[in-house]
Amino acid sequence: MQENLHVLISMTFTCRQCGTCCMYMGDYIAIERQIGQFEFACCSVSTDTHFLASIDEDKREIFSDTTFPDQHPSACRFLRPDGNLLRCTIHRDSPVQCKFYRCVVIRVSDAAGNFLGTVTGTLALHSDDAGLRLVWGEAKKHIPESVPDAEERLGRYLLEKGYRVE
Ligand code: SF4
Ligand code: SF4
Repeated sequence: MQENLHVLISMTFTCRQCGTCCMYMGDYIAIERQIGQFEFACCSVSTDTHFLASIDEDKREIFSDTTFPDQHPSACRFLRPDGNLLRCTIHRDSPVQCKFYRCVVIRVSDAAGNFLGTVTGTLALHSDDAGLRLVWGEAKKHIPESVPDAEERLGRYLLEKGYRVE
């Protein structure tokens, strides 16, 4: 490994609560019935997982305003605007795939720190940089997406090629 490679990074992901990933989840997070003032029996349709959700106590006021879901029928029924954010109002009770979802798993920069692109949770590269796209294509040939540590190994591959990843 080259000496000037930057330390492999924990690849921590911070959700900015932009709500983009929840805007088309209305068909996937289904409310089956209301069982209390702020309690719902729900189903995560893609995995047929049934769960009970109670609106987070600190979000009951914003949940009660239905202007947003009325205007955005494709959005998850539990998504609400809160200032500049779009927030999940069942953060505590949301299904596991929501809790672990990450829209970006790797941010890639060149050795000087110039941002080049991102890798999404589906291990797809989004970058206009031709060199990085080429290297990413090589990396994907060497490291199948199906291996459990694919994300870490792809990150290491980029590091070894002199990129910064975080
Ligand atoms: S996971 Fe990504 S898309 Fe979804 S709210 Fe967070 S930052 Fe936005
Ligand atoms: S339950 Fe919460 S995190 Fe999951 S799609 Fe709905 S608003 Fe988004």
